[in-house]
Amino acid sequence: MVWRKVFSKSTSERDAEGNPAESHPAAPNREVPPHLAQAIEKRSAGGPPSNQDPEQRKLAGLRRRRVAILFDIEQGELAASPDNPWTQRTDLLGEAMTNVTDDLVEASKVEPGPCHPVPANPIAIGAIESGDAASVEFTVGNNPFLYSEDPDWAERGHQIARGELVRRSGDVDVLVPADTPEDLREPLRAHLGDSLFVMASDLRDRVLDGEPLPANPTLAGHAAPCPICGGWTDWRGTCQNCARRNARIMELKREEGRLLDERSREAEERRRLIEGLPLARKRLRDVETDLARLGETFD
Ligand SMILES: [Zn+2]
Repeated sequence: MVWRKVFSKSTSERDAEGNPAESHPAAPNREVPPHLAQAIEKRSAGGPPSNQDPEQRKLAGLRRRRVAILFDIEQGELAASPDNPWTQRTDLLGEAMTNVTDDLVEASKVEPGPCHPVPANPIAIGAIESGDAASVEFTVGNNPFLYSEDPDWAERGHQIARGELVRRSGDVDVLVPADTPEDLREPLRAHLGDSLFVMASDLRDRVLDGEPLPANPTLAGHAAPCPICGGWTDWRGTCQNCARRNARIMELKREEGRLLDERSREAEERRRLIEGLPLARKRLRDVETDLARLGETFD
């Protein structure tokens, strides 16, 4: 999104003397205006500070401070004007928030998930090894499956997390019912493959944790319809269609929160600049009085 670039911020602050840092917080485009930058350069010219006498150094310091205050005043006056960058950005952020709100409405719509019934073919649980190189065997109808952990994992050693089970044998294709519509065959094959992996991992973990194994599992338990969208749920009851929708909703809500924060920062920045104007003007009078004492004149 383009506005993201427009609003990318740095967090640098001003230094103790009130000189603007290289980039200003909340305003990457608000650099020192060219005429002020020129003034700074002109004023700074005249050799390294170590070669200056104390009065020259004081003069240089006051001049720098005056330029910084002039910058603050310019910013404050700009912020106070009806057509200012802060209000423009706040408006743009408002538009972006409207878009996000529309996207949220759209993303919250429950689209029906893919579904086609699978038969309740019994699953017979075979040998389960839960040692360093775990393996899980089961048979779906007449189709044997073998999962085992990657042998590389055991050799790497010193890992607390278990390795992932990998399907060594077993054909998921034959589990897809013959009457499955053509456009659902591949999605169902992928879904059953994922769900059988989830079950294999669950069986291994149950043995590891000394928990009872599921009674009478069937293939139908790998494709029960989701109560929300009607799509397939996996062995653990997870619906990918709903999970994707929920992830998208969460992403948009985070975006909404970020935009709200950004908008209040813009408003706060503008308020701060406007409220700082009287003080900045007083500081300008003070510094110009000091400069006048040293013989400085102003245009
Ligand atoms: Zn669902």
